Amino acid sequence: MPVIQLVAGKRVLQQHAEQPKSVGEVANDIKIIDQASALEEMMRDHAIQAHRLNHSAVSATHCEKCGDNLPEARRKAYPGCTMCVECQSNMELRKKIGRM
Ligand SMILES: [Zn+2]
Repeated sequence: MPVIQLVAGKRVLQQHAEQPKSVGEVANDIKIIDQASALEEMMRDHAIQAHRLNHSAVSATHCEKCGDNLPEARRKAYPGCTMCVECQSNMELRKKIGRM
């Protein structure tokens, strides 16, 4: 769901919080709130990650896991990156699961 839609949905929920609702409306509200919360968490994590980046670090030219070429856009966006998006995502997912 696009960010603008989630933000607008959250605003509508805040404006109509006191009005009586059906079970379906409440379920939909909960879904929107969950999505907005997930989005906020993702944006916060991204902001923290961007803040922590060492902007003078040198990025690898190839993924250390699979050997694929690292696109210039990724090398610039994440200075010091050593893995492609897929390998990095898999590693982060494994870390996350390991903590659960
Ligand atoms: Zn890779």
